[in-house]
Amino acid sequence: MLSLANFGALFMATTASDKAAWLQGPGADCTFNTEPPQRAYRLILLGAPGVGKGTQAEFLCKVLGTCHLSTGDVFRAAKGSTAEPSPAMKVALDAMQRGELVTDETVLNMVAERAGCMHCPFGFLLDGFPRTLNQARALDVMLGNLHQSLDGVLSFDVPEEEIVRRLSGRRTCRGCNATFHVESKPSKKEGVCDLCGGELYQRGDDNAESIRTRLQAYQEQTKPLADYYAAQGLLIPVSASGSPEEVHKAAMCALQEKIARKKCC
Ligand code: AMP
Repeated sequence: MLSLANFGALFMATTASDKAAWLQGPGADCTFNTEPPQRAYRLILLGAPGVGKGTQAEFLCKVLGTCHLSTGDVFRAAKGSTAEPSPAMKVALDAMQRGELVTDETVLNMVAERAGCMHCPFGFLLDGFPRTLNQARALDVMLGNLHQSLDGVLSFDVPEEEIVRRLSGRRTCRGCNATFHVESKPSKKEGVCDLCGGELYQRGDDNAESIRTRLQAYQEQTKPLADYYAAQGLLIPVSASGSPEEVHKAAMCALQEKIARKKCC
């Protein structure tokens, strides 16, 4: 098990793959830039939009050597693609723009097409999926069929007014999807990604109206997942107030306590 003592050294490691199989779907193969980790972690990141799951996923991937699989990223990749979207994808992208959830059927078909990512030797960090009880039950069946199981569900929590502040100041890179914040995590040069030099933009669904709709969808449809996973003994609550580094440290501590079953710090 990873110790917090060697966390600094591991943090320098690069992310595991280019996630081609996840982002582009069937037919695409990932390019890996490291050997698989000794232990593959299979985790879900749960938390309201804007709680910082994307940033925490970046940290965790570097430490655990796993892949960040975000369903929102798949939709955004489809939105940015020059290819004409399928009718189902068109409906999904319109729902996304309004801040509403995409239908379970579309999401589950999309994830099923990418089932190979669920038994990848690098493990996975699922972000934004599952988002409804239906999706969670379907994921359990999918993992069962693949003889895989979850190690835990990291559930990030933060007060709602803080979420609105975080979302309205969020900027995302068109090139590599890295996220910044105009106040708490500004890029070195305004509008330009520190990591790849890509253009930073404000997501279409990061406006006040969509933010309200997304938070309501979270409260009604996604929050009940905390009870679902608590009942399975998988829930790992993490306070997401504080700097991204502080939250990461709290997440690693909580994960370590869950996996090693002993007090971390
Ligand atoms: P995210 O990047 O996770 O905030 O997702 C952006 C948007 O994509 C959401 O507001 C939804 O419209 C859609 N979306 C992503 N994942 C899902 C999901 N698992 N179920 C339904 N809609 C989703």
